[in-house]
Amino acid sequence: MPVHVVQHPLVQDALLTLRDSRTGPEEFRRTATRISVLLATEAMRDLPTADRVVETPIGPAQGRSVAGDIVVVPVLRAGLGMLDAVLELIPGARVGHLGLQRDETTAVASHYYSKLPRGLGDSYVLMIDPMLATGGSALTGLELLYRAGARNVRIACIVVAPEGLSLVEQYYPDVHIYTPVIDEGLNTGLFIVPGLGDFGDRLYGTL
Ligand code: URA
Repeated sequence: MPVHVVQHPLVQDALLTLRDSRTGPEEFRRTATRISVLLATEAMRDLPTADRVVETPIGPAQGRSVAGDIVVVPVLRAGLGMLDAVLELIPGARVGHLGLQRDETTAVASHYYSKLPRGLGDSYVLMIDPMLATGGSALTGLELLYRAGARNVRIACIVVAPEGLSLVEQYYPDVHIYTPVIDEGLNTGLFIVPGLGDFGDRLYGTL
């Protein structure tokens, strides 16, 4: 499976701020936005472009503009922490939502909501889910996206565990994953170690 570990110093700096338990919700949100812009930029490196000419005040200038249909799909609720950043980068993107709830003891993801744009067959779909832990939510999300007709899906995460990567690789070996880091693994509570704790709780101050 293509896993892209984004080593950019600004990404690594933001990751450390997110990991730091002293980072409160306000700074956590701002930093999640910053890191998401950088990750989404990397994840969209292969977008097609079309040649265009515009008129500057001085004369014609040739350039390229994005030509593909882009769909961004946050996995609720933690994925919402990455959405504004991606929309800032790609204002014309269409947005789908997937509501997946993981059972805290079994880590099995159940699907309680989905609203996806139509006509995903030719779209560049970016699923945003900050913590790829067991891989259960990612697997359910990918299944829903492919069932809805998507064919080109990539995932942007902020921390991933090897267990989650293996599971996704087993079922979706062609899906590209963009992340700043692959952590050590999961603890008995199925949290990523060292991770950053519960992303949604830290984002929304619901600890
Ligand atoms: N979800 C989180 O928010 N954190 C983890 O460590 C694992 C899943």
